[in-house]
Amino acid sequence: MKYFLAIIGGGPAGYTAAEKASKAGKDVVLFEQNAVGGTCLNVGCIPTKSLLYGAKQYYNATHAAKYGVTAENVVFDYAAMQKRKTIVVRKLVAGIKQRLNNEHCTLVSGSATVLSRTDKLVTIRCNEETYEAENLLICTGSTNFVPPIPGIKDNPAVWDSTDALAATELPASIIIVGGGVIGMEFATLYHELGVPVTVIEAMPTILPNLDQEVVAVLLDKYKKAGINILTSTKVESLDGGKVTANGEVYEAEKVLVSVGRRANLQGLEALNDLELNRGAIVVDDFMKTNLPNVFAAGDVTGKIMLAHVASRQAEVLIGRLLKQIPLQRIAYNAIPSVVYTNPEIASVGITEQQAEEMSVPTEVRKLPMTFSGRFMAENEGETGLCKMIIDAKNHSVLGVHMIGNPCSEFIAAASFAVRMGYTTAEFQQVVFPHPTVSEILHEII
Ligand code: NAD
Repeated sequence: MKYFLAIIGGGPAGYTAAEKASKAGKDVVLFEQNAVGGTCLNVGCIPTKSLLYGAKQYYNATHAAKYGVTAENVVFDYAAMQKRKTIVVRKLVAGIKQRLNNEHCTLVSGSATVLSRTDKLVTIRCNEETYEAENLLICTGSTNFVPPIPGIKDNPAVWDSTDALAATELPASIIIVGGGVIGMEFATLYHELGVPVTVIEAMPTILPNLDQEVVAVLLDKYKKAGINILTSTKVESLDGGKVTANGEVYEAEKVLVSVGRRANLQGLEALNDLELNRGAIVVDDFMKTNLPNVFAAGDVTGKIMLAHVASRQAEVLIGRLLKQIPLQRIAYNAIPSVVYTNPEIASVGITEQQAEEMSVPTEVRKLPMTFSGRFMAENEGETGLCKMIIDAKNHSVLGVHMIGNPCSEFIAAASFAVRMGYTTAEFQQVVFPHPTVSEILHEII
């Protein structure tokens, strides 16, 4: 049988593409070597959020006196949190399988290797069977990057995020190398469960790609809470749990290394003329590579390593392959992102720093989240921050950056404004329900 589309990798990009194409009646074969759902469902977004929610319950129970509640003898069971996480993941994976369960979609469990390609046919090998397809979509994702630091390889004290998520016991103490998104989410998890945490970040600040005024609010809270955050600090070597950085030695039971992820190109060696840039597959706005019938979506494209970017890329590609009108493209300028610290950080669009670098004349508006009544009612002792970046010439909303719970839940409203190019006068006409924290987006205009 010749398939219309072969997809390697069943993460958010792969399973979205498989579902859309097969439900439109196209024969699709999807190869996945682990569980469908990819990094996001199995060893990324969902398991971390499940554990973080457990940690937040414990943290809130032990910090409730400010709301007039005192709970004694509050205990947590980390193994039980892990068990619940596993059940959440299992249910979601089963849901994805269900979505792919139709006569046009063949799910193959195994590691796929591209054997050959012409402009009309791609041949793939998996589990000693050969598959042929007119088109190939590469959604092989990314893997944790291991930096070339002496003592890091084969060190039993070193964890990557997958090891940390699998551990059924908490470490007595932890050093986190890399104060990016993964690093700060795990710092939150361990800190809220009482584990001493040290974060070592090479750059002058943690979360370097985010609005730095927003990050400063988090930094201030976390430092006061006792998280040891070292910036402009370069790790020189490791010896078990001993980390030498900027000439000082720090020690913990475990060292979590979270310094970024790299595109996974395994099994694609036969595509030796596939164009790459810094180890990621180069794609155009429609996910097309330099090879006519080869496409790529998700982390492997090295664009923005987020699950919702991957699934949107897949939607756009399948729309194009099926010649659906109008042709869509991704609005990379309006991709929201969230960091699940406590408080959460949510942002969309350009930051004040980026506007300055790009010499875009902007007006920057700022409000503490306490301008929202609901925020005041539910976030004792927090101030939060909302910043809006506005085009100084046409008054369109270019970016929104927030810290304060639960901003992850309404950043989509700001994304909508940025995506549609709303001016402040247009956005001002949107009614937000009262009392909700989302009203901050109305207040700031
Ligand atoms: P990242 O790029 O967000 O952060 C890596 C950090 O490590 C950077 O701050 C960098 O300066 C620092 N660093 C690099 N080398 C270092 C060294 N030798 N010593 C100390 N610090 C060093 O990468 P990540 O946190 O590993 O996350 C990987 C990807 O997964 C990112 O694209 C991220 O957006 C994505 N992710 C997203 C979410 C979310 O959306 N909530 C959650 C987790 C991961």
